[in-house]
Amino acid sequence: MSENFTSPDFYNIDELLSEEHKLIRESTRQWVSKSVSPIIEEYAQKAEFPGHLIKELAEIGAFGPYIPEKYGGAGLDQISYGIMMQEIERGDSGIRSTASVQSSLVMYPIWKFGSDEQKEKYLPKLATGEIMGCFGLTEPDHGSNPSGMISNFKSDGDDVILNGSKMWISNSPFADIAVVWAKDENKRIHGLIVERGMDGFTTPETHNKWSLRASSTGELIFDNVRVPKKNILPGKSGLGAPLMCLDSARYGISWGAIGVAMDCYNTALKYSLERIQFGKPIAAKQLQQKKLAEMLTEITKAQLLSWKLGKLKNEDKATSAQISLAKRNNVDMAMNIAREARQILGGMGITGDFSIMRHMMNLESVITYEGTHDIHLLILGNEITGHNAF
Ligand SMILES: Cc1cc2nc3c(=O)[nH]c(=O)nc-3n(C[C@H](O)[C@H](O)[C@H](O)COP(=O)(O)OP(=O)(O)OC[C@H]3O[C@@H](n4cnc5c(N)ncnc54)[C@H](O)[C@@H]3O)c2cc1C
Repeated sequence: MSENFTSPDFYNIDELLSEEHKLIRESTRQWVSKSVSPIIEEYAQKAEFPGHLIKELAEIGAFGPYIPEKYGGAGLDQISYGIMMQEIERGDSGIRSTASVQSSLVMYPIWKFGSDEQKEKYLPKLATGEIMGCFGLTEPDHGSNPSGMISNFKSDGDDVILNGSKMWISNSPFADIAVVWAKDENKRIHGLIVERGMDGFTTPETHNKWSLRASSTGELIFDNVRVPKKNILPGKSGLGAPLMCLDSARYGISWGAIGVAMDCYNTALKYSLERIQFGKPIAAKQLQQKKLAEMLTEITKAQLLSWKLGKLKNEDKATSAQISLAKRNNVDMAMNIAREARQILGGMGITGDFSIMRHMMNLESVITYEGTHDIHLLILGNEITGHNAF
């Protein structure tokens, strides 16, 4: 990845950004160049999360950018959040995942649905990275259909007794707290804050991933865990609560995917100008120009999509279906660009000397988590026709 990265901006989209947005982009970009790019390949190769980046992520404001300052957040708008995710994911989807989970899946539900006591207790420490969180929705037998979840809790005095398990949980192996979604005795879904150290709560790590290797993934296992009732999020129950968190994270992913696409495009463009075959740079060949032209076209469309979605989110007007469209389109766009960019690099494209193959493998997770590509299509289908085809 180049040290002095400039994003493709074919349609002068920078004109739509404020000075603050551009400053945030520059400072996040510099941090990625200094702290992520030089080490990320090594951590991905050894399948290890670079835990030392937690403190730095907090310092650049990546934990809760849009959470109010009184709770330790940065109080920024949604476009600022998106731009940060774009820049961090240009470095690596796994590092962006850590920031997304902490912000949109842990801080967001505590901020939106938590009691004052919960907000004061957890949010400032989550913002500084003093404590890290994870989000437990997916279960071994309930992925795309979380409403069927079997994790459940029963009342017992001032506590509830939680049983069940969650799978594929980003950051679970090192998280201090988990926002867990489980059903009460009336089969109603609630969010509970489960703390590491509670008896019967374990978080085994998931190994053998070919994707998001620099992100730590694991399970959450609850074996008669006694959770104080004051740890239940009081503000909202039902599946709509976790889905609101997912909307926030999916929006950030739509920007993050652009970051990956930009990095792949830039790497391929640079390589194609330097690589000589048949007496000319391969950039002078029509077939390679077609790939580059189509990449720039798709990046430009995705930039406009996420920017407009950010404006809608700032006005609290973005619908779930609009967010599905952007997540689905932009991740697919990034996957196609990564594949084409990899080909432009020929054999060199498969090595860890370049970021493309790592991005490509990471995107296999990004296209699956936070609603699969097909599930987002079904959300759109339902919106268009009024017929639920799940
Ligand atoms: C690296 C990684 C990190 C993750 N992090 C988290 C996390 O932090 N927290 C969390 O809660 N979850 C997390 N997930 C889980 C993720 O959200 C799920 O994997 C995803 O929702 C899909 O569920 P599933 O894997 O069970 O697939 P399934 O739901 O079994 O789907 C399998 C296939 O069937 C398709 N399908 C399902 N239903 C239908 C239908 N009605 N019609 C047509 N096709 C259908 C799907 O599109 C998919 O292609 C993570 C996953 C990964 C890979």
